[in-house]
Amino acid sequence: MTHPERATTPTNQAGWQALAGQLTHEGRAYVNGAYQWASNGETFASISPLDGRTLTNVASCDSIDADLAVAAARDAFNSGIWSQLAPAGRKAVLIRFAELIEAHGDELALLETLDMGKPISHARAVDVPASARAIRWTAEAIDKVYGELAATPHNQIGMISREPMGVIAAIVPWNFPMIMAAWKIAPALATGNSVILKPSEKSPLTAIRLAALAEEAGIPSGVFNVLPGYGHIVGRALALHMDVDCLVFTGSTNVAKQLMIYAGQSNMKRVWLEAGGKSPNIVFADAPDLKKAAAEAASAIAFNQGEVCTAGSRLLVEESIRAEFIELIREALKTWRPGHPLDPATTCGAIVDQAQLDRIIEYIGIGQSEGATLVEGGQRVMEDTGGLFVQPTVFDGVNNNMRIASEEIFGPVLSVIGFRTAEEAITIANDSIYGLAAAVWTSNLNTAHRVAKALRAGSVWINHYDGGDMTAPFGGFKQSGNGRDKSLHAFDKYTELKATWLVIE
Ligand code: NAD
Repeated sequence: MTHPERATTPTNQAGWQALAGQLTHEGRAYVNGAYQWASNGETFASISPLDGRTLTNVASCDSIDADLAVAAARDAFNSGIWSQLAPAGRKAVLIRFAELIEAHGDELALLETLDMGKPISHARAVDVPASARAIRWTAEAIDKVYGELAATPHNQIGMISREPMGVIAAIVPWNFPMIMAAWKIAPALATGNSVILKPSEKSPLTAIRLAALAEEAGIPSGVFNVLPGYGHIVGRALALHMDVDCLVFTGSTNVAKQLMIYAGQSNMKRVWLEAGGKSPNIVFADAPDLKKAAAEAASAIAFNQGEVCTAGSRLLVEESIRAEFIELIREALKTWRPGHPLDPATTCGAIVDQAQLDRIIEYIGIGQSEGATLVEGGQRVMEDTGGLFVQPTVFDGVNNNMRIASEEIFGPVLSVIGFRTAEEAITIANDSIYGLAAAVWTSNLNTAHRVAKALRAGSVWINHYDGGDMTAPFGGFKQSGNGRDKSLHAFDKYTELKATWLVIE
């Protein structure tokens, strides 16, 4: 595999296209320190949503590969080469891993864009640095967390410690392939576990590439493995495996529920789930800056083509400003027109694949047949490129019971719902099976806190959308999942709590 060294990041589409022409793509699985094809020899095509071109063939792993990877991960764990390394030792290796991700930033950003369609400027400015930051932040924390001593009688000592679980299977989605992987593998590895990463079949290339960088950073063979393949084949095999101790997942609520069943049918492995969302973005008439609120509402539905678990897909607007606010959003969406993902000026890229595009178009039709008013977008565009593009779309006059308001579309389709009082806004906001995120815009401190407290969501943002950094835990209430990624709380998912009690004779 050759990866071109470049001194500078390309500044235009031609530059990125030239770099893309020089890339070769690794499609093999990475097991026990070596790249290898699936044992059954099967592959699937990794197709770029930019133009329908096949980027490469990827190993389609199955249960035999899962067995091999789990055995390698278990042997590595039992050997102690990583699990018993001092936290400061694991920290040093993981920081090197983060540095290598940064050093290969252009290449990784390009892979992410070619594979899943997001704009190159976002892949380079968001996905690459956020992935490196997740690994570095977590690594820097791991030698600073302590256990506890219980409040014992004088002749006893109660030590409460955390131990790595063993073999972790991490199953991740396609919308932020590298960031979602980093949020899992950073705390899993930092706490001393062995990991098997199962990327989405729609966007496996950066995960496969990360394996080589992990090896270069010094992560020992067997400690980090990558198994590309279909969810219902290799994902299922990992979830049902009797020697996987813990399953961490980001993806849809339906698959998340299935994973809980698999755990119950097998070894009761721990299951931590980050699932879907239908997040309410609540704008009161007294929002401090309506133009800013509209700009962020537009970004909340158009960033990453709306393929974001926390997308602000339900916009709740106080009736007195609804018409004015919709015009502000339509204006703001002018900066989110679909464009070629390799053009650094593009803000809205391609939809990940034909199935997802069909789903979005179907929901736009559903919104119209449900009686909502289409006020912006609604069309597939740039079809002549061979790529998969759709206009950011806004429906007004939406009722929270409509399917476009209750079901996760995972595309740039916004439902605008009017409200008259804070109580009504809270009721509508919480009337959802999901509880991932929510935002409230108001100048009134009391309204802000009253609404924020009442919202049943893992993240609540006041007068902005999608805030937070590595210090903030991230995850959902209700059917948006359990457990938290990021922050020190993430360590809880990857460790068992042990109480060791000593009576002094
Ligand atoms: P998905 O559930 O279809 O797939 C996610 C992963 O699960 C993929 O790797 C897939 O191969 C695997 N999978 C599918 N079926 C499986 C099975 N039977 N057994 C084991 N593994 C299986 O989700 P997606 O379409 O890749 O991603 C979109 C979804 O992810 C959306 O619902 C979105 O809200 C959610 N998401 C949530 C968060 C969050 O943090 N809460 C973040 C990003 C995306």
